[in-house]
Amino acid sequence: MIKKGIGRQIVMHYFIVVFLALMLVEVVFLFAMRAYYYDTIYNMLSSYINVTVRSAQIVSTGNSEREYLNNMMDRLKRPDAELQILDGKGKVLISSSGFKSDKPVQTSDIPQALASGSIAKWIGRQATTGEPVMAVTTTLQQGGGQIYLARFVTSIEKVNQRLTAITLFSMAVIAVVLVIVLIVGIGLANSIVRPINNIIAVSAQMAKGRFDVRVEGDYRYELGEMGSTLNYMAEEIVRSNQIKDDFISSISHELRTPLTSIKGWSETLDSGGYDPEETKLGMGIISKETQRLIGLVEELLDFSKLQQNEMKLTMERVELKDLLKEIILNVWAKAELKQVQLRIEAENDSFAVYGDANRLKQVFLNIVDNAVKFSHENSLIVLHLAREDGWVRASVRDSGIGIDEENLKRVKDRFFQVNTQGGGTGLGLAITQQLVELHEGEIEMASELGVGTTVTVKLPLLDEELPQLQEAEAEEDGSPENAGPDAGESSENEKKQ
Ligand code: ADP
Repeated sequence: MIKKGIGRQIVMHYFIVVFLALMLVEVVFLFAMRAYYYDTIYNMLSSYINVTVRSAQIVSTGNSEREYLNNMMDRLKRPDAELQILDGKGKVLISSSGFKSDKPVQTSDIPQALASGSIAKWIGRQATTGEPVMAVTTTLQQGGGQIYLARFVTSIEKVNQRLTAITLFSMAVIAVVLVIVLIVGIGLANSIVRPINNIIAVSAQMAKGRFDVRVEGDYRYELGEMGSTLNYMAEEIVRSNQIKDDFISSISHELRTPLTSIKGWSETLDSGGYDPEETKLGMGIISKETQRLIGLVEELLDFSKLQQNEMKLTMERVELKDLLKEIILNVWAKAELKQVQLRIEAENDSFAVYGDANRLKQVFLNIVDNAVKFSHENSLIVLHLAREDGWVRASVRDSGIGIDEENLKRVKDRFFQVNTQGGGTGLGLAITQQLVELHEGEIEMASELGVGTTVTVKLPLLDEELPQLQEAEAEEDGSPENAGPDAGESSENEKKQ
């Protein structure tokens, strides 16, 4: 017995469909066979009747009715059917079998033949013998105006027996086919159910936290895909756990370095007795390290806001060319230290987009900061602006250390760093990517190890003709949410994500 479930459903449906189809074919087939056999007999009897009708004209009427009937019988009797000649009331006057009852024949072919004057058929059981027969009857016009009926009767018992044999044989064939269908159905159901059960067992283990188990077996089609997706999910979970562990260790390191420095200097200053020059240096370091910690915590907060879809954007018209100039000023000191040159190349005058100026600044600051960080000394970074089919393409090209193909696929993953020794959280590009997506833009990275990296941000070009800004301002009028630190001026448009 098949257990309740998808397997049983498959077998049942498969079985029912095939069973109904076979039954339909069987019924049609049996009807066709019956019609074929009966038609053959009917055609034979009809041809006898036609001959009888023609002969009735030429058979000598003789001196009496008896003589006429005997002449007819001699001439027309057949070995394979009984010929009866009846009077207009259905009484058998003469029969080739020699048997005649006093009772008139009362089957439906008699009144039909009399009424229509053509050939009438009747199939049923002989009243006297109970034998199944077919009777074909027509009227005969005798010269004297007397109406006779010629009736050929033949047994259909053999034909019926043959039809029964055919029915039984075809039923047996159907039974065999159904058994085969059942076996194939169970096999098919098992081939689906077994992998599903295996996948369920593996996913139950994974749900308990065992990510080392995998769906084994070479399953085909959707089940194969399901298995490999589950395996992929487990690998991703293992990988992201690893990344998270790495992140915790790197963030602890990142936090400890400035804290150690702050602690050291504050203790030193607390002990007193230092000259103003040294005190100023210590305070400067404390301030710088505190700033670094604030930056780090802000990055984490941004990331968490983005994760929870709570990032608010203050939308306005932003000119990317001006924004990039500002970015260059921001990283100038850092670039100067490495003698790295920054240059803007713009194909047009205006590259306006609709976005949050601070967040877009964060996007480009992170990209340009990375470019400076991973550039060689005395190299050039090009900030290129171009328009393309309703988009602004802003790319930052450096000729620094570059990233190999394998790592390039993962640099936008959160917490991922090619080299964890270099500082940073590995969140920069993950945040950048999400911010660009919030602006309905795209970010692409191309890089070659040892050659350099190009990061391209595609943002929708602001169509200055559109009343986008006015509409947005009208919608945002007087919103209480403008009170937060990201709110900017009250007239600006804010978008909550
Ligand atoms: P982080 O804040 O640690 O810099 P990011 O997400 O900004 O994190 O960058 C992830 C990693 O991608 C970096 O650690 C670095 O290895 C690599 N990377 C990013 N930009 C560049 C670049 N321009 N050249 C080479 N490597 C880069």
